[in-house]
Amino acid sequence: MRIVLMGPPGAGKGTQARRLSESTGMKHLSTGDILRAEVAAGSELGLLAKGFMDRGDYVPDSHIIAMIQKYIDDPAGVLLDGFPRTVFQAESLDNSLNDAGLGIDKIIHFSVDTDELINRLSSRAICSKCQTPYNLISDAPLKEDVCDKCGGKVSVRDDDKPKAIKNRMNVYEEQTAPVLDYYRSRREVTEIVATGSPDSVFESLTQAIRSGELSN
Ligand SMILES: [Zn+2]
Repeated sequence: MRIVLMGPPGAGKGTQARRLSESTGMKHLSTGDILRAEVAAGSELGLLAKGFMDRGDYVPDSHIIAMIQKYIDDPAGVLLDGFPRTVFQAESLDNSLNDAGLGIDKIIHFSVDTDELINRLSSRAICSKCQTPYNLISDAPLKEDVCDKCGGKVSVRDDDKPKAIKNRMNVYEEQTAPVLDYYRSRREVTEIVATGSPDSVFESLTQAIRSGELSN
C-alpha cells in the first residue's frame, strides 16, 4: 500500500505519519529524513545532495525522485510525507510507479482552518532566557510575559506570529495547489480536517485508510 500525505505546516502531518508508521509497520518516507540518511550513509546520491545542501541550494527534483524510487516498492508499504511537492514530482512519481506496475492507493490531504491554526500556534510562547515553553491559553506564566522559573521575558516566536503564519500558509497554497489539482483531476483525494486533538485526527486517518482497503 502506498499513501501520499499532504498538508500545510502546522497540520501535524509529520506526527500523524510517524504514528501511522508505528501502528501499521508501513515505512515513513519523509524527504528530509531520506536526504539526511543518504548523506549520512555517504551514498552516491547522498554526496550529490550534500553538495547542494552545503551551498544552501534546494536539492534538484531529479535527485529527490531518484531517492524516493529506491524505497517506493518497500513490501511493508510506504507513507510519502512531504513528497511530491511539485507537479513535476507528482508526474515523475506516477511514471515510475507505472513502469513498476505499481500505483498510489490513497492520497490524503490534511486541511486546517487558517484562523484556528493562528490561534493554536500564536498561543505558543517561550522564555527568551531559559527556553521554557509556555502556552498562553492553557499554561500561561503566572505573571504576564514573565518566566515563572527565571524571570526572563516570555514571548511568541516571530515564526508563530499571525502575519508569519499567514505568509507560510500562502506559500504552501501557492506551491501545493497545483499538485492537489493534478491529483484531484485523476483520482480521489481524501480530505481530513486536521483541527482537533491529535487523537481524533489519528482516528479519522485510520478510518480513511480502512475504508480504502474495503473499496479496493
Ligand atoms: Zn525562563
